[in-house]
Amino acid sequence: MATYTTTNPTTGATDREFPTLDESGVEDVLHRSDAAFPAWRSLTPQERAGILTRVADAYKARSEELGRLIATEMGKPLAEAIGEAKLAGKIYRWYAEHGPELLQPETLDPQGAQESLVTTEPVGPLVGVMPWNYPYYQVARFAAPNLMAGNTVILKHAEICAGSAQVMAEIFHDAGVPEDVYLNVFADHDQVAAMIADPRVHGVSLTGSERAGAAVAETAGKNLKKAVLELGGSDAFIVLEDADLEQVARTAAEARLSNAGQACNSPKRMIVPTAALPDFVSALTAAFGAAVVGDPLDPEVEVGPLSSVKARDTVVAQVNRAVEQGAVLHVGGEALEGDGAFMRPAVLTGITPEMDAYSEEIFGPVAMVYGADSADDAVRLANDVSFGLSGSVWGSDVERAQEVADQLEVGMAYVNEHGTTLPGLPFGGVKRSGFGRELGRWGMGEFVNTRLRRTA
Ligand code: NAP
Repeated sequence: MATYTTTNPTTGATDREFPTLDESGVEDVLHRSDAAFPAWRSLTPQERAGILTRVADAYKARSEELGRLIATEMGKPLAEAIGEAKLAGKIYRWYAEHGPELLQPETLDPQGAQESLVTTEPVGPLVGVMPWNYPYYQVARFAAPNLMAGNTVILKHAEICAGSAQVMAEIFHDAGVPEDVYLNVFADHDQVAAMIADPRVHGVSLTGSERAGAAVAETAGKNLKKAVLELGGSDAFIVLEDADLEQVARTAAEARLSNAGQACNSPKRMIVPTAALPDFVSALTAAFGAAVVGDPLDPEVEVGPLSSVKARDTVVAQVNRAVEQGAVLHVGGEALEGDGAFMRPAVLTGITPEMDAYSEEIFGPVAMVYGADSADDAVRLANDVSFGLSGSVWGSDVERAQEVADQLEVGMAYVNEHGTTLPGLPFGGVKRSGFGRELGRWGMGEFVNTRLRRTA
């Protein structure tokens, strides 16, 4: 690949081309990132926090422009896109506000010595590999804690959002992050592997598919580097008998259609009491059928295109295969004619363990609805997948809903909400959804040296 090419998924038109690194480019990036580390780590946490505050201010001030950029690059409706830029700003601000305290040395019980002191030290250059579905937010989750901690960052973003990747680098540099402390690279997969393997790099964080996660973690493992992986999910949305069905069906539809369903923690599987299944499915079907699909820059539009025609065709093929294997399609599922990457949101029921849809992630506007005979049955269904990112439980008896939520094999369990992400809360999964955590104090604990100094 000699270039990264971005295509507007609304029109199918090729937008811009960005040259990728040449042969000497990888060495140049590694050298610069490594050389920039000593000066960056030697700033005080307050100095780095001051710079991150300016980054946060820029996201806030430029959220409209930043939103437009990703709406045309990956198809997110404008209001959601602006919201994402603002959320990214809040993440930088959170680390600016809390980072200095999180980096304070800690004096432990000396246990017979004069002193036992623990400090949190940066480790050096890190590689970040990020996906296109939340271009600003994903980078913020990785870059904010690590820049705060004093690490330097080499960021390889997805080809689909090369333009926003470039703007993010400009924002950092305008705010005072030295150019080589945050390096945006347009690199191919082999070049990424070469960077991870290089002794100057001390870890890698990837958000993306299982395939990409396995490839990157393999290289990291072979070279004894730490990896943090945020991978796919097939989150359950469990409705208990005492939930307000109409309200919950509306919330489920909204959550599933957000970002055209292209979120790792989107509620992909809805599990409702068998007796309530017909009413829930008809409410969801009505909501999906009524959702306005179209140009993400049009304020009336609720569901934009998928990120590419290839991504759309994959989702449509998954729906068709489910139907061929015996599932029931209640609405949508078809591609829209034209050059854009549009499809009609779909609702599927009757999915059984033999069907592919039962166990695979559907990364698009498709709800799979299951009936469960009891709360235990709902938990069994929820946990019967290889993923373990998040899940939610809905009901008016909150204690009962919490008990059910406690049985989910996930990194994030929600009661009467789904998928809330805030800068101070941990984000990450178990099972094949990955390992490690981002955000909050946990996100700053991944790529640091927790260093002991003991004086006898
Ligand atoms: P993808 O193909 O895995 O791409 C993600 C990133 O990984 C891109 O930058 C991609 O670069 C890069 N990449 C892919 N293969 C690589 C390799 N062998 N070596 C180095 N880099 C590689 O992901 P996707 O399918 O576009 O994105 C959707 C997936 O991400 C879904 O499964 C979703 O659930 C998951 N996701 C998870 C989270 C989470 O936090 N858990 C959040 C968002 C998305 P190129 O673009 O150059 O190929």
